[in-house]
Amino acid sequence: MTTTAYRTCPLCEACCGLEITLEGGRVKVIRGDRADPFSRGYLCPKGTTLGRLHDDPDRLRRPLVRRDGTHVEVSWEAAFAEVARHLTPLLAKDRDSVAIYLGNPNVHNIHAAFAVRPLVQALGTRNVYSASTVDQMPKHVSAGYMFGHPLTIPVPDLDRTDHLLILGANPVVSNGSLATAPDWPGRLDALQARGGRLVVVDPRRTETADRADRWVPLRPGSDPALLLAMVNVVFADGLVDLGDAAPYVVGVDDVATAVEPFTPEAVARFTGVDPETVRMLAREFATAERAVAYGRIGTHTVPFGTLAAWAVDVLNTVTGNLDRPGGAMFPHAAHDPIRRRPRRFRTGRFRSRVRDLPEVLNELPVATLADEILTPGDGQVRALITVAGNPALTAPDGARLERALSELEFMVSVDPYLNETTRHADVVLPPPSALQRPHYDLQFQSLSVRNFARWSDPVLPLDPDHPDEFRILSRLAAIAAGMGPDTDVDALAEATLASMVQAAVADADSPVAGRDPGEILGMLEGDSPFERLFDFKVRTGHRGDGFGANPEGLTLGRLKAAPHGIDFGPLTPRLPDVVSDPDGKVRLAPPEILADLPRLRRAAESPTNGLRLVGRRQLRTANSWTHNIEVLVKGKEACTLQIHPDDAARLGLEDAAPARVQASGGTVVVPVEVTDRMMPGVVSLPYGWGHDREGTRLSVASRRPGVNMNLLTSTAEVEPLSGVAILNGIPVEVSRA
Ligand code: SF4
Repeated sequence: MTTTAYRTCPLCEACCGLEITLEGGRVKVIRGDRADPFSRGYLCPKGTTLGRLHDDPDRLRRPLVRRDGTHVEVSWEAAFAEVARHLTPLLAKDRDSVAIYLGNPNVHNIHAAFAVRPLVQALGTRNVYSASTVDQMPKHVSAGYMFGHPLTIPVPDLDRTDHLLILGANPVVSNGSLATAPDWPGRLDALQARGGRLVVVDPRRTETADRADRWVPLRPGSDPALLLAMVNVVFADGLVDLGDAAPYVVGVDDVATAVEPFTPEAVARFTGVDPETVRMLAREFATAERAVAYGRIGTHTVPFGTLAAWAVDVLNTVTGNLDRPGGAMFPHAAHDPIRRRPRRFRTGRFRSRVRDLPEVLNELPVATLADEILTPGDGQVRALITVAGNPALTAPDGARLERALSELEFMVSVDPYLNETTRHADVVLPPPSALQRPHYDLQFQSLSVRNFARWSDPVLPLDPDHPDEFRILSRLAAIAAGMGPDTDVDALAEATLASMVQAAVADADSPVAGRDPGEILGMLEGDSPFERLFDFKVRTGHRGDGFGANPEGLTLGRLKAAPHGIDFGPLTPRLPDVVSDPDGKVRLAPPEILADLPRLRRAAESPTNGLRLVGRRQLRTANSWTHNIEVLVKGKEACTLQIHPDDAARLGLEDAAPARVQASGGTVVVPVEVTDRMMPGVVSLPYGWGHDREGTRLSVASRRPGVNMNLLTSTAEVEPLSGVAILNGIPVEVSRA
């Protein structure tokens, strides 16, 4: 029998709608869902492979436990008993001795979104690490200081802007990040078709730059200097105009003073961009009818990542493009409250044991995870839980991190593959495939260029005896809380729900304030405790039905009845309600960020020479995932060192011949790709490769392993405000191998 199902693709932040044709209970073909009003039928090559991911014989279906150095299949009961046997005594002695690492796929997984937080709370450890300190924490930090909440991030209003300035991002290939927009290529075409301009600033002439009206190459890591020089020109030329945001912004004069030293001339040697080009960029931006700047990984994973993240929003604000159509706007997720509670954002509420690094968003930098494992003493990390992460490839100094993993007393991984990280685990708990779980984008609706909501039911049933991921993670939480491996996790979730309802009815700001908790619990929809938790969340959100207060509002049932999603239209201005800082104003010049400007100024005054390495994204891969899907990795060698022809000639390197790349972190040997895509003085390696380790079960990926770029990166330096590792712009030496 042939059936059709609709769901959101969980593989990247674009959140495309998929139309999935099934035959005999198996995926036959996946197309873009043309009836999805947001993605309108768009999908990329990765989105077509969810069926292959599900059918991949290397995907784990049963838990593994390591016995005498070999991973063997065991029952779920035996696997959880093993976890409890090891974690319980460690936690009883010292909560901080157990660390957790959360990989990027967790934010694409509604089960994880609901279950990970209780797991972290049950662990009670300070040693929480995630992919956020690999590449995106600077934006959270700057958003926290400027708008009061680290998740209050303005996104480019792509569909209405006239001038889009992109720095350090390649959304034509990555499909966007911290700005959810299915079909970036089509949306950029539409921008230019309506007479708008696209300007790309990047050391590499990316696939996005290929479409741009102007490509401006700049030295890696110097983006904030370029942006502040543009702001300097905006002030010098009298082009400052905050527009409708003016009543809600403080600190403009402080910004004017702060950018005074950053003249186009002062930063020219550091950025490699001549002063006249900077002036032209600034004037074009400031005089465009509706303009927006957008920066991503290349601007964040550098020594001045938070300054860059902040400078993007400063440029948007002083040119009147904050919170207005066509500028940088604040999405409003359907499940979020009308406004967040006032709270002053801060970091450093606790610090790491070994290097004294500050926490950010209750996390420590992943760059110091190996230190915490390898350094003896009170509070040493002795056990690790990883959930959907492969930090051995994606975190800095992968070799040292792998050594640290091998020295743990115990490690448990929730992961569908035995990969470079999970091969170190004593227990591997595989979740069902993405097609076997429901989907709702709890995070990406808050970053979406249109207000949009979509629920997807599972497309395929669970395998017999295979618990869903919500229950796997909940059982781990029960073990961490000392309840043992046999706890009734459904009863636990119902108890959690009851206490959430109790708290909500006692909260004057909740739409159910003063109501009878029993009545609310009786009204909840859903076939499982997870679904009822979700129903409660969405019904108390600003578009929810408020349990009768707003009869036309959202419920889980209404979302389920709209399989192509519900479009709430373009973004609308949200100032001042969107600001949750207690002062109620956008803080354009947070002192915590301004304090880092002298460091940038010193770097700009004394730029260093030599080759620099940057990463790059690839359309057919997503971080380290998807390399085990044959159709995505076949063909031309993808893991190459891109280098400008002049640099290649100077170093005696030939196209396709191997080169040795050396950095403070280590050395790799990789084939050369000579290309004028690179600016002179900068080379590029893709990210997430290096599948050449013993003990993995990645039969396709291990045949095309590539090299791990993170064997070159170092953990010695982190960006001081956000704790991110320095992954871009690192000094390298390149020679013939
Ligand atoms: S762009 Fe992203 S969300 Fe869309 S199909 Fe590709 S991987 Fe999936």
